[in-house]
Amino acid sequence: MAMRLLNQDRVKGILESMYKKGRVPNTILFWGPSGVGKTVAALEFGKGLLCRKGMVWGCGECESCRVYESIADRILKGDCEEIKYYGESQSGRSVFVYLKGEHPDFVFLIPDGHVIKIDQVRAVKEFAWEKPILSPAKLIIVEGADLLNPQAGDAFLKSLEEPPYDTFFILTAVNIKNVLPTIISRSFLIEFTPLDFESFKEITGSDDRKMYELSGGSVSRLNKLKEKAHVREMVNRFLEGDASAVFSCIQKIGSYDEEDVVLFFDLLEENIVGKMSTNIEMLERVMDVIDETRRDIPKGVNVSLAIAYIKTIIGG
Ligand SMILES: [Zn+2]
Repeated sequence: MAMRLLNQDRVKGILESMYKKGRVPNTILFWGPSGVGKTVAALEFGKGLLCRKGMVWGCGECESCRVYESIADRILKGDCEEIKYYGESQSGRSVFVYLKGEHPDFVFLIPDGHVIKIDQVRAVKEFAWEKPILSPAKLIIVEGADLLNPQAGDAFLKSLEEPPYDTFFILTAVNIKNVLPTIISRSFLIEFTPLDFESFKEITGSDDRKMYELSGGSVSRLNKLKEKAHVREMVNRFLEGDASAVFSCIQKIGSYDEEDVVLFFDLLEENIVGKMSTNIEMLERVMDVIDETRRDIPKGVNVSLAIAYIKTIIGG
């Protein structure tokens, strides 16, 4: 089976060395921007942790590797409905807890909605204490260690404090600041950085440098940008267009949904720097307006007014 982790050579090196020395920490935390390979790395390395032949990236042939592969494939394709596993809440309701396929020693925890809930963590804790069946160890991947609600965070910490020696946790997080300090202190941290242009080309097949820069070296961001060409176009018109083009932007943005408005301000922030590099003071004022507006979008701030104001600051 081909290796999916095409980039991140530094990360690969660290993981290989730990594995070969037989010193894999029970809890590893991958952190860094989205779309740069954290989930892929977690799944690939996890395969090796469960491999019956003890190969660092999995042998691809043993029973564990074969079953694991098909689950990993589903997860990466987002085809997860059939592997959703339900447990019981404390009040006896049936609740979604994690993704679990045919592999008895592996679960993949994702947020239920926007956060990871306490019932999910309880289910993981029970799983952590079962004996491995097919593999030499058990693996729990937690996608979104920065999305544990406070109650769930405390409960999760208890599982990490005294993990069974044959249970591995691989956590991922985009915003390291939102991960509980007590979880960080019990984890081995590995930072993921934005993809370089060469890796980006290899993975996406796109050699458009402008798109690479706009995406910030993130594959998921690139996909979003492709899908949202109208927002990209509007940012360009806003920055470069004449008065009537700008006026139509101001009118149009009011009808955008929240996701598009956020993307508009993200792109504006990234592109405005090149336009205004000579005047730091003005740039700071604009950045403040962008920050405040973006923060208040969920509260229904008047975004048309905000961009009209930005235009008066930058002039033109
Ligand atoms: Zn294997």
